[in-house]
Amino acid sequence: MYSERINKLPPYLFAAIDEAKEKIIKKGIDVIDLGVGDPDMPTPDHIIQALYRSAKNPKRHRYPSYIGMLSFREAAAKWYKDHFGIDLDPVTQVLALIGSKEGLAHAPLAFLNSGDIALVPDPAYPVYKIGTLFADARPYSMPLLEKNGFIPDLEAIPKDIVKQARLMFLNYPNNPTSATVPEGFFNEVVEFARENDIIVIHDNAYSEMTYDGNIAPSFLQADGAMDVGVEFHSLSKTYNMTGWRIGFAVGNAQIISGLGKIKTNVDSGAFEAIQEAGIVAMQGPQDCINEMREIYTQRRDALMVGLKGLGIKVQPPKATFYIWAPVPKGYDSTSFSKLLLEEAGIVATPGIGFGDYGEGYIRFALTQSVDRINEAVKRMEQLTI
Ligand SMILES: *Cc1c(COP(=O)(O)O)cnc(C)c1O
Repeated sequence: MYSERINKLPPYLFAAIDEAKEKIIKKGIDVIDLGVGDPDMPTPDHIIQALYRSAKNPKRHRYPSYIGMLSFREAAAKWYKDHFGIDLDPVTQVLALIGSKEGLAHAPLAFLNSGDIALVPDPAYPVYKIGTLFADARPYSMPLLEKNGFIPDLEAIPKDIVKQARLMFLNYPNNPTSATVPEGFFNEVVEFARENDIIVIHDNAYSEMTYDGNIAPSFLQADGAMDVGVEFHSLSKTYNMTGWRIGFAVGNAQIISGLGKIKTNVDSGAFEAIQEAGIVAMQGPQDCINEMREIYTQRRDALMVGLKGLGIKVQPPKATFYIWAPVPKGYDSTSFSKLLLEEAGIVATPGIGFGDYGEGYIRFALTQSVDRINEAVKRMEQLTI
């Protein structure tokens, strides 16, 4: 009944975890969910108020423009100028998305022919690989190894693979490893992309979710990046707006236009009232970002205590709301996550769910209050491993 492309899909990990979690909840166990990377805090009120206002305007009820309202694209361009010092033409270099996942999933359709290769980090957010498979193209895994700071080794990609590659996905600050990009790496990527005629797609969903004064760069700040690539951005994590489905892509005008062509033919744009709320998010008070950073810092530090108690050695992350921890000896990522769930009622995501190179790790999302994380830590202390 299903297409080959559906049959090729790996099992959706979070569905299996949800099932295991439901079983434990049915037994009456209080579960602390550090699984899915979805902020638990509400969208700031001034953004919600903007949606109310805009939703009442009948002009906003009609089909939106495919590429996004000009006012939204201008706000995104200004946000990029303010945050990264990058000049963007809102008309040709900005495209509104129904969440960045939507754009990331559609991008391969615009740039890959059947059989072409996309260079995909492993472990990674699953959409890069799946979008590639949906375009009947071939994902090639670039391992993100701890010894390399979870940065792909471009030199290690075989020459014949590079020749067939048309696209490269990157994501820093990184989900799931929480790695940040070392200085100079994006320049190396630009050079590699130029030499080998590869389009770079950088996913910058976590640019604002940083700790200890760390600043995450934009890929577009690298010299020549605008010639070879685009950056995907999302309001989801920065403004606690995952449910709203609004994001955007910025960068090279030709690439933006290619993605726009796909989108014009499959969707009809994001609800304009949500775009107007997005404008308010980007142009309104930004204190919510610092508040978010403080909250996640406290949570991170609380969970670090528990991991240390378990004998798990991991550096506190500089960005993202994830802790990517090696599993203790004698376990793999699946058996350790099973132990945490069944013996401590803690949900965490086994690294294997993010790719073969995620094996040996487990991802904790800091999406519970400090109190709940402290409770998780207490339970971890009672585990025998
Ligand atoms: C959460 C996340 C996104 C954001 O997706 P939206 O569709 O904008 O909500 C994008 N990339 C990564 C790596 C993420 O973890």
